[in-house]
Parts: sequence; structure tokens; C-alpha cells
Amino acid sequence: MLIDLHSHLEGRVRPSTAAELARELGVPEPEGGWERAIRLDGPADLTVYLQKVASTYPLFRSSAALERIAREAVLDAAAAGLDYLELRFGPATHTDTGRGLEQVIAAVAEGMRAGSAESGVPSGAVVAALRHHAPEANLAVARAAAAAAGAGVVGFDLAGDELLFPELEPHADAFAVARAAGLGITCHAAEAAPASAARDAVELLGATRIGHGAHVADDPEVLRWCAERGVVIEVCPTSNWFTGAIRDIADHPAPVFREAGIRVVLGDDNPMQTGSDLAAEREVLVERLGWSAADLAALDAASLEAAFLEPAQREALHSTL
Ligand SMILES: [Zn+2]
Repeated sequence: MLIDLHSHLEGRVRPSTAAELARELGVPEPEGGWERAIRLDGPADLTVYLQKVASTYPLFRSSAALERIAREAVLDAAAAGLDYLELRFGPATHTDTGRGLEQVIAAVAEGMRAGSAESGVPSGAVVAALRHHAPEANLAVARAAAAAAGAGVVGFDLAGDELLFPELEPHADAFAVARAAGLGITCHAAEAAPASAARDAVELLGATRIGHGAHVADDPEVLRWCAERGVVIEVCPTSNWFTGAIRDIADHPAPVFREAGIRVVLGDDNPMQTGSDLAAEREVLVERLGWSAADLAALDAASLEAAFLEPAQREALHSTL
């Protein structure tokens, strides 16, 4: 079963599409071409990794481009054998004078709907607020996401530089709006900040899922707390290796989470940058991190439960699998 619960739209732009959109939008071709601008050859550091992801941002500059990128992301996921894809993106990065948050979200949701209709693979959009944006800006993002609940948007997230912007409290109002609209709540946390950031994301923002959460592994008390609370951690091993967060894939904390009894789910984060899709990440769990068949079954069960699906959709996905 391939359920992808942590994947960024910006990390799924095909280099060939980037080249075409660049010509349409008049974006200059990067030195060495789009393939080179987007893909990493191997492990790097966070700055290089984020530059590769951000290289495509200038291509998100029309509703047609947003729709195309989102549609192709779902089609590529379907071609790679995925059973369900949750796709997150920060709409505030892609607005301009002619296109507001609502239009950006609507274009992505429409592209994903088309991709799901064509492929038969269900998908849901997760709208991300950004740590470096002002609380009022994130409140506007939450309102736009809330307005699109039931129209393709299924969840709300907080992404961005946790080292420079560790505070969660200022964004609590935005998350309250998202929760009130029935959106599922996840949060990139304890990636760069200490373990307590994961607990704060649960308590202050209402997160039921934590993105990456690597530092949770450093603190036995938070590990225990997450296990008892049923907090889900979304792990993306190759991505953590490629950003330099871990020195070797074998150092990934996923086994620590598993041993602590924490529910673990899987994502591929930015597969166009790493070249590692969800099936490959599953291989990593088995071959490098010691996942047994029983552990994979637990991962599948946790993924089905933790996906931001309506009960009827969850039932439908459950029965098709
Ligand atoms: Zn992420």
C-alpha cells in the first residue's frame, strides 16, 4: 500500500514541464538547464536543497501553470503506483497582484481534481502557512483554506525555517480557523528545534501529525508523550539525508519512533529533488531501517487512519486496498 502523507507540490515539478512553462511565462532558463536546477545528485545541505525546490517558484505564476503542475503531480504519483497522495503547498508564495490566495488554492485543487479523475487515484490538498510570514498573513491563508474545505483542501500545515522562526503561538489563531473548518492539522516541527516543539505543535495548534519530528527522538519524555497521545510522525528518510539533517540514512530516527510505540507514516517530501519516490522510501524503511512485514502493516494501518480523509473516503480507500 502506498499512502503518501508528506509531499510538497513545489517538489514535484517535472523538469520538462518547467522548461515549457518557462518559455510560456518568459522565465529565463537557469544555467545548465532545468533538470540540473531542480534535481540533486546526492546528499547536500539544507540551503542547496531549498534552492533546488525554490528554482521552480517563478513557474507558479499563472493559474494555468498551477493547474498543470498539480495535475501532473497526481498523474506522476499514480504512475508510480501510489494509492493516495496528500499534496501540500504554500499558496502565499504563489500569489501576485493578479492572483490572490483563493485563486491559487482553487487552481491547485482543480489540477489535483483533474489528475485524480484521470488516474483514479484520490488526492487531497494541504495548505501550508509559513513560519516567516506575519500572523495576519497566515490567518488570511487559513481563511482561504477554510473556504476551500470540501473543495479539494483537506488539511493545514505550518512550514518554513524552524531555526529562525521557532514560535508557534503567533499562528494559533490561523490554526483555530483551519480546525473550525474541519481541516486536518499537521505541522513541520522538531525538525531543527528541540523535541518540545512537537508537543507545542499539538497543544498550541491542534496538530495530530508532525512533519519530520527528527528531534523527538532525542527526548524520552516527549517520545513517551507522543506515543501515549497517539501523535503521528510523518517520516521522509531520503529527504532528511539530502538536506544534511542526518549524516547517513542509517541514522534516521524512524526506528526510535517505532520502538517508542509512535505511529509512523511515510512521505517523499520533494521527490523531484531527491529522485526517491514513495516506493523507494518504503524500500529504505525495509532495507536500511529494519522494517519488518509487521512494521509495514502497522505503517499502512496508521497511514489509512491518519490520512485527512472523510469517513466515507477512508472507507472507500480501505476497501479498494
Ligand atoms: Zn516537508
